[in-house]
Amino acid sequence: MSSAVTDLDVAVSEIAEEMRRRPDRGEVATYIPELARVDPNAFGLCVIDAEGNVAAAGDCDTPFSIQSISKVFTLTLALGKVGDRLWRRVGREPSGSAFNSIVQLEYEHGIPRNPFINAGAIAVTDLILSGHQPREVLGEILHFMRFLADDQSIAIDKAVAASEQRTGFRNAALANYMKSFGVLENPVEFTLGVYFHHCAIAMTCRQLAMAGRFLVHSGRNPETGMSVVPPERARRINAVMLTCGHYDGSGEFAYRVGLPGKSGVGGGILAVAPGRASIAVWAPGLDANGNSHLGRIALEALTKRMGWSIFGA
Ligand code: GLU
Repeated sequence: MSSAVTDLDVAVSEIAEEMRRRPDRGEVATYIPELARVDPNAFGLCVIDAEGNVAAAGDCDTPFSIQSISKVFTLTLALGKVGDRLWRRVGREPSGSAFNSIVQLEYEHGIPRNPFINAGAIAVTDLILSGHQPREVLGEILHFMRFLADDQSIAIDKAVAASEQRTGFRNAALANYMKSFGVLENPVEFTLGVYFHHCAIAMTCRQLAMAGRFLVHSGRNPETGMSVVPPERARRINAVMLTCGHYDGSGEFAYRVGLPGKSGVGGGILAVAPGRASIAVWAPGLDANGNSHLGRIALEALTKRMGWSIFGA
């Protein structure tokens, strides 16, 4: 690591400055009441490159609700637990519909399209839960996040979890519907409880970029050299992030940014430039597909400037 100012440092601070000034900020999610309280003017960006250099700007040390970004990590844990058997319970095709849509589930006999739409993530959570108590599983997820980010301070925002638990009728419908097809094994309220709580994990851009490093480095933690997942699994998680990580905006994200990425309705996006960088951005205002509006624009600017799109310059 060097202390000299790099091209990456300059790019990150210029992009953050530009985003701060933009008037078009999208709409903060309000369907989870607690998320509606977040400042729409917040903006954070953190990039960790292959050498371990960290370039960060804006509100990069403010914790925010990672929401659906947690689904990358629960998918990783579930694959570790049951391996490819996971794909009997959930598909890996883009859904082409909203993050909380129920229509496809009926046509497809309760098997969700992919692990990143809500139904799929609830099915993945149910897989991790089997054989354990909800509290143990939440402890395991939190431990995994703290380990990956090398930061013991990461915690669940209980107010956000409670807020979603009170109002998550749509997710309850999805879970009950899947249960009726026998896709969920555990009591619906247990599975949903774990799901709402892992979505409510609060992290900063810096912590999230740290946690994403194993996906950049073929499954290894670059600092310790320790394997988190085998290279083939990291590659496949990245593939699902690329094709399904932004709900019905996944095609647009691939077109504009060109990286595997996962968004959350808290306004965060984790993006992976394989072999190059782990990137976390946070801008709470969302676009019509429920993805961070300025987060996507910032990532587009960054990948263009750094030449990081996986599809070429
Ligand atoms: N907890 C949120 C929900 O289930 C996650 C959605 C998201 O981040 O896209 O509605």
